[in-house]
Amino acid sequence: MVGQDPPDAADAADAVTVTVADAADAADPIAVAERYRLLAEATRDVVMLSRPGHTEWISPSVTDLLGYRPEDLYDAELSLLIHPDDRATTLAQRADVAQGRAVEGRVRLRHKDGTWHWFEGRGQPVPEPDGGYSGRVVSTWRLVDEEVATVDRLARREALLRVILDSSPDVIVRYGRDLRIDYANQRIAEVTGRPPDSFLGKANRDLPFDGYDAIRWDLHLTRVLESGDPDAFDFEGDLGSGERAYEVRLVPEADAAGQVSHVVVQCRDVTDRRQAEEQLELAATHDPLTGLANRALLLDEIDRSLKADERSARTTAVLMIDLDHFKYVNDSLGHQVGDDLLRRAARRLEDHVRGGDLVARHGGDEFVVVMRSLEDPAEAVRVAERLVAAFRRPLVVGDAELFATASIGIASNRPGRRDRRGADDLLREADTAMYVAKQEGRDRLSLFSDDLRVVASERLRLESELRPALGRGELVLWYQPEIDLLTGRLLAVESLLRWHHPSGRLYVAGEFIEVAEESGLILEIGRWVLAEACAQAARWDEVVPERPLTVRVNLSALQLSDGALLADVDAALTAAGLDPRRLCVEITETALLRDLAAVEQNLRGLRARGIGVAVDDFGTGYASLTYLRQFPVDVLKLDRSFVAGLTDGADERERRLVAGIIALAHRLEIPVTAEGVETDEQARRLRDLGCRSAQGFWCSAAVPPADIEAILLGAPTGCATSG
Ligand code: C2E
Ligand code: CA
Ligand code: CA
Repeated sequence: MVGQDPPDAADAADAVTVTVADAADAADPIAVAERYRLLAEATRDVVMLSRPGHTEWISPSVTDLLGYRPEDLYDAELSLLIHPDDRATTLAQRADVAQGRAVEGRVRLRHKDGTWHWFEGRGQPVPEPDGGYSGRVVSTWRLVDEEVATVDRLARREALLRVILDSSPDVIVRYGRDLRIDYANQRIAEVTGRPPDSFLGKANRDLPFDGYDAIRWDLHLTRVLESGDPDAFDFEGDLGSGERAYEVRLVPEADAAGQVSHVVVQCRDVTDRRQAEEQLELAATHDPLTGLANRALLLDEIDRSLKADERSARTTAVLMIDLDHFKYVNDSLGHQVGDDLLRRAARRLEDHVRGGDLVARHGGDEFVVVMRSLEDPAEAVRVAERLVAAFRRPLVVGDAELFATASIGIASNRPGRRDRRGADDLLREADTAMYVAKQEGRDRLSLFSDDLRVVASERLRLESELRPALGRGELVLWYQPEIDLLTGRLLAVESLLRWHHPSGRLYVAGEFIEVAEESGLILEIGRWVLAEACAQAARWDEVVPERPLTVRVNLSALQLSDGALLADVDAALTAAGLDPRRLCVEITETALLRDLAAVEQNLRGLRARGIGVAVDDFGTGYASLTYLRQFPVDVLKLDRSFVAGLTDGADERERRLVAGIIALAHRLEIPVTAEGVETDEQARRLRDLGCRSAQGFWCSAAVPPADIEAILLGAPTGCATSG
């Protein structure tokens, strides 16, 4: 610092001493002035004696703080260093000083380098010798940049916190150690309809909420205050927005000494989330159409029940329920009606099971009832009987009454024994039993037994063996003659699958075709059958060109609704070079009813090619006649169950039924072929009823192609057509 005295330094020192001189040595005025000058020079703040427009003395520290030397500032108008925004206040203060009033405040001053700095100033008016005031003032200026910055930072932080707190979707409340609220955010107003302020100073027991458990809240608060650990709980109640679910979190807030001084409580409305979670849970475990448990939940429940049985020695029974003829309803009346029917069926099931039984939709038209903790396994049979009876009554859908009887399979674990089977096993067994119920004529129940267990595993084995059979050339086609009942001539042949099983046994189609259909293998096998049957017809033509035979090929329902069917047929015919009119496909009525659009397209495509269409097993399906009116077919193959009734001593009604069917077919101008003709008598009666042709053991079972070739070459057919 320049140790140079400003001109008026002595004056200034004089003035400053007015009040403090008593403390110094009054006897030595120079020493006193020097002492004060030293003091003023030593301070880190700026000390200044001035009057408006004139600086009389300023401490050297000004150089450190503002970059100017003191002499630069004498006679300068210091207000030029004041920030324009602060000038107005400073001017006002000058007036105060001129009135003899002390002033203080914060202003920004410009450093010589052009930067602005915050100073806290205090101005003490200096009286003139006459005791009046003229604006002369002693002022001190302290640099407060850091303080201002800190305050600013804090203010900004607080504003930010307030925005965060007030915009929080959660109600946030702070409690002091006295368990009274000392802060509540804006959100509380939206939730309760009361302003945040109205909560201040309140204890939980003062809060105006219905059914609000103040004691429980206090308990949680106290726990946090005492332990210093966060806490949480759920509560449901009406805080003014109706009954809602809240998740409450309590967090301790410590003071500077590390003591828990407050508890901050965050109260989150989780009603919507809970509902969404419940819906998700419901969707994951329930069937949307019927609202019943879905397969996933079903498996869980069965497994859980089986586990419980291990401890209690009770029984779990599984009822597999399949609606008979459902496909027919669905396909002919539309999916809307089908859906309604399923919903009705679901309700009927629920109405007829016991209270604790689980009803689930297993898929399609299959339902499952799980009966848990049975003391008496026969109870399952009783419930199943009740269900079968219940489903004999029509289901009302819209204004229609639909009949859908039920076939039920029952399986249960073996009580009292270690039974390692799981839900899957039980379901499979119930399914097998249900399948047997269907086979036995539907509208009934069947119990899974050890015999059925064998059947079930047999089926599984068969499927695994059938899979590679085609590739290994184990499958062959045999042909069953169809004979003209009047002339005994060979009219056509039906190709029937045979399987040279690795065991050496020959399996007939009836023993494995279902497995092929259920596993989907039938598509691949069916494609091969078409190609092989066409090729065989062409081979016979080579040997006996003058006797072109019609070859009938069985199509499974799956094939008939397969988009690739026509391409497969074309490929088979082209490869064999066979006239399409020599081919006739046999389809069942049920297959006709499967997926109308795809089936119809395939049928039209077949007819357009001149390929014949025969309806197989005629008389066993549904709605057959309505369909026949819609779609022309070439041959009806009367099911052998009708033919079986044509024996001596048989019911006369049976005979009349067959007569009726044949007459009806003739009225529709469709020829009838009788299937399963085993005796001369049946053949004769059929002929008498006007049936033109027949096939069956009476004449010949299915035989290898060479035997057909022999017949074509003149060998006898083996049937006695004395007519
Ligand atoms: P289906 O079309 O009704 O065939 C007639 C079945 O009755 C054949 O059994 C045949 O051997 C048998 N059968 C013939 N005459 C008589 C008789 O006088 N009395 C008795 N009791 N039975 C007789 P198979 O060969 O076991 O075939 C069973 C079913 O398998 C067939 O019934 C047919 O629906 C299906 N099938 C056979 N081959 C094929 C095929 O290549 N593809 C498809 N999708 N199904 C086939
Ligand atoms: Ca057939
Ligand atoms: Ca048949």
